[in-house]
Amino acid sequence: MKKALTVLILLLLMFFFGKEFIHKPSTHIPEPSQASDTDINIQIKTENMPKKNIYQIEVDYDGKNIILGNMNIKYYNKSDRTHTNLFFHMYANIFKSRNHLPFFSEDLSKVFPQGFNPGGLEVLEAVQEGKPIQWTLEEDDQILQINLKDAVKPGNHTDIFIKFRLTLPNANFRLGYQQFGHDKITTSLGNWYPILAVFENGEWILDTHCSMGDPGYSDISDYNVEFTTPLRFTVAASGILSNHVTEGNKEIYNYVAENVRDFAAAISNNYEIAEDMVDGIKIISYFHPEDSKGGFMALDTVKHALKIFNDSFGKYPYDELRIAEANYYCGGMEYPTFIMMNTGKYKEPNLSNTSLERSTAHEVAHQWWYGVVGNNQVRESWIDEGLTEFSTAYYFEKRYGEAGREAYFERYVDTARNIIQNSTMKMYDPLPQFKIRGEYFPVVYINGMLFYDSLRSQIDDEHFFYLLKTYYEKYKYKNVNMVQLIKFLKERTQDVLDDTFFEKWFSLE
Ligand SMILES: [Zn+2]
Repeated sequence: MKKALTVLILLLLMFFFGKEFIHKPSTHIPEPSQASDTDINIQIKTENMPKKNIYQIEVDYDGKNIILGNMNIKYYNKSDRTHTNLFFHMYANIFKSRNHLPFFSEDLSKVFPQGFNPGGLEVLEAVQEGKPIQWTLEEDDQILQINLKDAVKPGNHTDIFIKFRLTLPNANFRLGYQQFGHDKITTSLGNWYPILAVFENGEWILDTHCSMGDPGYSDISDYNVEFTTPLRFTVAASGILSNHVTEGNKEIYNYVAENVRDFAAAISNNYEIAEDMVDGIKIISYFHPEDSKGGFMALDTVKHALKIFNDSFGKYPYDELRIAEANYYCGGMEYPTFIMMNTGKYKEPNLSNTSLERSTAHEVAHQWWYGVVGNNQVRESWIDEGLTEFSTAYYFEKRYGEAGREAYFERYVDTARNIIQNSTMKMYDPLPQFKIRGEYFPVVYINGMLFYDSLRSQIDDEHFFYLLKTYYEKYKYKNVNMVQLIKFLKERTQDVLDDTFFEKWFSLE
């Protein structure tokens, strides 16, 4: 009887869940969006593996302008589609010719004081799970499309290996190198390796470099990057420095970064280092010895800004933060747990009253707004820039009191009001629509700051900063868009604010 019951239960189970119990060999030819049955053997669903991409990169730097990279990326398909192709940004290829440079033409001599000098990123080999795969370059070689041998189903991982060669331009940019004297060199490594594009709402987001602004949009990932350089080079990079050894005539640096959306570095044989701690976070400033005054000021600003933002927005979730003097003619550039700051800012005559402090505080604030809470910096740059600039103004207020706030407004806001009023551009316009350089900072940064300042004045400080803390927690390690942000703000302020407040700032449909 017991045996008959067991058989009956088994038969019933097979009837209801037959598809799972009986594996029928596939006879149809899979469509491009479907995986073949062989994929199932390769792509075992790995519940315990992190549901994010993992980059492992071995970097060999020649001490001047060539980097050879071996990159393993464990790609995790978090979408609901099966992918037969993957897309990577190859931002460095903007420097292949002078046709589409990532700045306005009037700045050519600032970026290339020695004249235009090309650079670029070349793929030498691509492999999936041990099998060579084909690739193509699109959009002026700024987008790499990889044709997978085995499609990747939702919730599955696959291993991709890319061997690449990066040629650095001799440029004052986020990517480039500059020589000083006869044997000193400092290299900026921003947006330098093939980085996976974001897939959302059924499409790959493949925006390329614009004439201004920051190009990035990428998902939270883990990184393990090992740099090999000639002797006496120092590598400052994203993440935690887990190891540094000198072997023969080489220096080897290993950086590990978890839950970051990009990885950047600066390399120099002319760095001095100063360190400090705040709230258990190690902060490290890298600077040229002749600019030590600026190097210590950058360290001091990072320390105060981290403290103020930790208290006001929620804790910085990483153990270390680095700021490095490098060559970027615009000023500062934010990368996760790493700030690149232009050497010119360290040389300003009166450092106690200069833009080094504003830029440093601004890039520290980006660690919260862009780094942890991500957004599309090309299509909706105001989301991170507006809140980051508000945080910058707040830094001056908290650190120096009402006088600090007034000085900030006098210096950055009063001069911008006319431009904002006379501009036809809106702060939430996409980056490519901005055609006049002088408009972007006032309309996006300063007007964005004024939006948050106005919101703060409508609700009391306690509620306002609780709102920011809640926003930070809700979107931590995620990407947010404008619709989500406005909805969030409206829902959280509906008791005190009606729609007219938001309509004044956003002509929303
Ligand atoms: Zn910014």
